[in-house]
Formats: sequence, structure tokens, C-alpha cells
Amino acid sequence: MSDITPCNRCGACCAAYRVSFYWAEAAPELGDAVPLELTEKVSPTLLAMQGTWDKTPRCIALRGEVGAQTACSIYPSRPSTCRELQYSWQHGQPNERCDQARAAWNLPPLSSLSVWGQSKNSSP
Ligand code: SF4
Ligand code: SF4
Repeated sequence: MSDITPCNRCGACCAAYRVSFYWAEAAPELGDAVPLELTEKVSPTLLAMQGTWDKTPRCIALRGEVGAQTACSIYPSRPSTCRELQYSWQHGQPNERCDQARAAWNLPPLSSLSVWGQSKNSSP
């Protein structure tokens, strides 16, 4: 999450879903790799961010309070799963995954009005 998106006052998807991805994303030889020590093995080919596979999910890399102020402590090295999840109205349409994560935290879905009043240049 950067400091110019609705995600900075949310963080719900980082504390709602299992965040899994192909193991090679945590391979240092691939550059800005996901820190391996913050992951856990899900299957022979999949890793997940620690904490996101728990009954009450919360990514180990998430800082702050969901629904108030949050940040991803590994933002430049976050997995593709996180890069690909766009907040609702980021590109002019709602995103069910965003809305459902926010609902799980009793947060209303983002509206186009609330989003277009802010920058649209980043993802969580
Ligand atoms: S993508 Fe949606 S649920 Fe995730 S942090 Fe951003 S606003 Fe919240
Ligand atoms: S790696 Fe960062 S963006 Fe991805 S779930 Fe964890 S805190 Fe959220």
C-alpha cells in the first residue's frame, strides 16, 4: 500500500484472505523477491504469506490498524497476488474481492466518489 490510496486507511484484504503465490516469487535470484522467512509452504508449488492462512487471517507484513491506518512493510517486494488485487473503482469499476474483504471488517465498499477524490496510481 502506498500513502496515496484508500488502502492506507483499510488493509482489510491483508487480513481477510489467504495470500498464496508461486514459490519462485520468493527466490532471491529473481530480484525483488518476497522475503522467504515471512512465508509458509502451502503445497509443493505454493507459498503463502505467514498469518494469512490462519483462522483469523492477518499478514505478517501488515502494519497498523485495519480500517484506520495501515501499510505493507514489504511493499516493493510484495507477492503478485497483492499487486494484482485492485481496490474498487481504481480503474472505474468495483472489485468484489475488495468489497468482500472490507465487509469482513464491517467497512463499507469504496464508492467511485470516495476513490476519485484520491490518487489512483497504486495497489495494496
Ligand atoms: S484493495 Fe480494498 S480491501 Fe484491500 S486494502 Fe485496498 S481498499 Fe482495502
Ligand atoms: S504482503 Fe503486504 S500487501 Fe500483501 S497481504 Fe501482506 S501486508 Fe498486504
